[in-house]
Amino acid sequence: MTMLNDYEKFLAEFDEKLAAYFEFEKDDIKCLEGCSYCCEHGDYPFSRLELEYAMSGFMKLPADIKKQIKDNFDKIKDEKDYVCPFLIKKKCSIYKYRSLTCRTHGLAYLKSDGAAKLPECANLGLNFSKTFDPETKILSREIIKENLDLPEIIKSAKGYDLEFGEIRSLVKWR
Ligand code: SF4
Repeated sequence: MTMLNDYEKFLAEFDEKLAAYFEFEKDDIKCLEGCSYCCEHGDYPFSRLELEYAMSGFMKLPADIKKQIKDNFDKIKDEKDYVCPFLIKKKCSIYKYRSLTCRTHGLAYLKSDGAAKLPECANLGLNFSKTFDPETKILSREIIKENLDLPEIIKSAKGYDLEFGEIRSLVKWR
């Protein structure tokens, strides 16, 4: 049994939990196929284990898509302002293999200090725009009471014998 097999077991549990969270917040979630705002804004953290899993998905892709992804990586100049290299025609080319943080895209949750973490698109009239006022910063609904930042997700996997390894932004794994 390889580490990636064990990781897939954790992912099954994590995805089930996230499905319940998306259901809980569904009235404020407007994510639709074809919207790739999250993937076009921000460089997300990948642990070494998540990167290995993403690359196992990459290896299964057709040669022309692999070439496009490599070219996308080569084009990235600025860590803070880039489109994810795995995004092809506005879809994640490694969807099943995407990172833990990518799986949380669209949700709002409470961080350990009690502050609300909202998706970027809350300011664009999309997710949580009915219940979040960007001027007053007031959020008029209950959101998930679990910190879904990557280090906390990793802590939640302690029942699995996984070594996540170093965490870097995707660009820094080049
Ligand atoms: S890996 Fe996929 S889901 Fe994650 S940011 Fe890139 S394109 Fe989006």
